[in-house]
Amino acid sequence: SDHRLEYPISPNHMDWSKFYPYYYDEINNKMNKQVTIADIGCGFGGLMVDLSPEFPNNLILGMEIRVQVTNYVEDRIIALRQQNLNNDSTNYQNINVIRGNAMKFLPNFFQKSQLEKIFFCFPDPHFKQRKHKARIVTNTLLSEYAYVLKEGGIIYTITDVLDLHEWMVKHLDQHPLFERLDEVFEKNDKCVEIMTYSTEEGKKVERNKGQKYIKCYKRLPNP
Ligand code: SAM
Repeated sequence: SDHRLEYPISPNHMDWSKFYPYYYDEINNKMNKQVTIADIGCGFGGLMVDLSPEFPNNLILGMEIRVQVTNYVEDRIIALRQQNLNNDSTNYQNINVIRGNAMKFLPNFFQKSQLEKIFFCFPDPHFKQRKHKARIVTNTLLSEYAYVLKEGGIIYTITDVLDLHEWMVKHLDQHPLFERLDEVFEKNDKCVEIMTYSTEEGKKVERNKGQKYIKCYKRLPNP
């Protein structure tokens, strides 16, 4: 249950300096950068860890509902920052995790059009028919994702569950604010490659020689 989760009443009430202290400008009392990449249901954080050096100019946020998993990712990032203090790259200062239910109040965290990329990597399948409404992709939720995603922004989906894949594709295809991207995009986009191999769930599927179904969508302009 998520009744004890705390949410900012609006994105302006969110204090990001605690999450990305390296990007906080003390003199002007404001952040130098905003979160532009979100990993929804980030699990153990493998995607963010691999995205971090690839996107040194973006702040990346994982959202995860399980407390222990969130704590694990927090510790993992603190350790990575410590171990890489003297490196030239971002030293993992550009990634962090927040505990939250992404199906609720996403617009409380992010401004309209703030995000460039949203990842849904191996979301929980909720197999039973009556549980389908608990899936992370529904018409209503897609409208929220469209709200926080900027024009031209990308939604990435990957799953090993064919039924869930077809469900996500169906809903995204139907939604007027998203356009399906083709295989040429998938072949050339580095995030597709990273999300295929870097998440803990993706590695598990790899070990078990399972299938991975991928589809990406572009945020269209409002009509
Ligand atoms: N993306 C990770 C990966 O590929 O390794 C984790 C995949 S795991 C199967 C799904 C994750 O989504 C779990 O860690 C679960 O706790 C989280 N989750 C499920 N519903 C969520 C929600 N409404 N908001 C945030 N996280 C959620």
